[in-house]
Amino acid sequence: MIYYTLPNDVYLVKGYTHSCFYDLANGSLFSISNELYNFVCKGIKNSNLFSTALKGGNPTLSYLLKENLIVASDKKASIVPITSLKEKIKPSFAWIEVTKKCNLSCDFCYESCSPNTQGEMSLSQFKIAIDQIQNTGIDQIQLIGGEPLLLQDKLKSMLTFARPFFRTIEVYTNGTLINKEWCKFFKDLDFKIALSIHSYIANQHDKTTHVYGSHKKVEQGIALLKSHGISHRIATIQSKFCDIGHNLNNACHYKLDPKLPKATGKASVKKTFNKKMLKKKLITEANMRRPLNKSLVVKSVSGHKCFMKDFYIDCFLNVFPCVMERRYCYGNLAKINLIKCIEDKVRLLSKDNIKTCMDCEYRYHCHDCRPDSNGSEDMLEKPWFCTYDPYNGQWATDLDGFCDKLLKPSVDSTTKTT
Ligand code: SF4
Ligand code: SF4
Repeated sequence: MIYYTLPNDVYLVKGYTHSCFYDLANGSLFSISNELYNFVCKGIKNSNLFSTALKGGNPTLSYLLKENLIVASDKKASIVPITSLKEKIKPSFAWIEVTKKCNLSCDFCYESCSPNTQGEMSLSQFKIAIDQIQNTGIDQIQLIGGEPLLLQDKLKSMLTFARPFFRTIEVYTNGTLINKEWCKFFKDLDFKIALSIHSYIANQHDKTTHVYGSHKKVEQGIALLKSHGISHRIATIQSKFCDIGHNLNNACHYKLDPKLPKATGKASVKKTFNKKMLKKKLITEANMRRPLNKSLVVKSVSGHKCFMKDFYIDCFLNVFPCVMERRYCYGNLAKINLIKCIEDKVRLLSKDNIKTCMDCEYRYHCHDCRPDSNGSEDMLEKPWFCTYDPYNGQWATDLDGFCDKLLKPSVDSTTKTT
């Protein structure tokens, strides 16, 4: 007797009108109708159905067999759900906000920081945070602000205290305050640096930061990091107001790789995005065709890809799921234990919990940035930049029209104040 089954690493995911084969062995995704999904499920339960269909020359079934999406077997097997891949994922990274103050006022700051914002972590609060973070097994932290270097000696005390507990410690700075003394300190204790520069053109960067001369200072900072051999990376955030320019004849000693801003903080859609940027952000049929990555699918099935591995601790010791997600607070480290937060349901917020996405067959292949997905109080909304409607199985084809609607003055549901 011949039976039929799904091979190892091939799963069926059902949506409202369509379903998908997730072939994790080959990284391929196959969209099928729900009619075909039902036929496959029935045929695996009752192989006579497939045998009869094959005798009748059923081309779809022959295709599925040829593509190894269904295989013959001498044993009867049932369909293994993709949720069987669920894993418990341990936290591995934490951001610590050491100050809310910044010497710049960037247009798209996720925290709306400026020289006037208040809030700074004390050294004793920092030690509480470090103690609790290292108890969870997290081995990588990033100190962030505001601008951490504004804390001067206090930042040095914080970093020196934290150094023995973590494999990697990175400081995220706007780069304007880096000098030889900081470089010696970073180098001696092996700290990594991340910094922001938004354009090759000085006045474009300065317009974004609202501080004249900031571009020159960051360039000097990058040069110092290089000359001291300090490991660093450069982050560049795109905005419709800032022309990134070109590195003509390699005149600049750094390379920019601009990323779109998350639509949080000051970076609301209409304020920060133009149509070209918005088009890049859309979830479209074309970008859903990218190959499947098994480890990302496992994470998507298991919970929220970022919230599972990250914690963000603000300068008042409040704990949040991510640097940009402030709608949900786990509690305050003065009162709660970070280890307890590992059990929190928000870490397990997979697309199975997100409105509309829960009925979409692509839900385990679709990256989910919650803070970027909406700006309302409701954390469970479908991303506003998705062009697929699982209830009719259609992708929007008029992407220009889709963007125009989002950029209309009356539609700015993505503005979020923190
Ligand atoms: S955002 Fe949601 S509805 Fe859109 S493709 Fe992704 S999972 Fe499907
Ligand atoms: S949820 Fe979004 S902002 Fe937060 S870490 Fe993930 S991708 Fe980044």
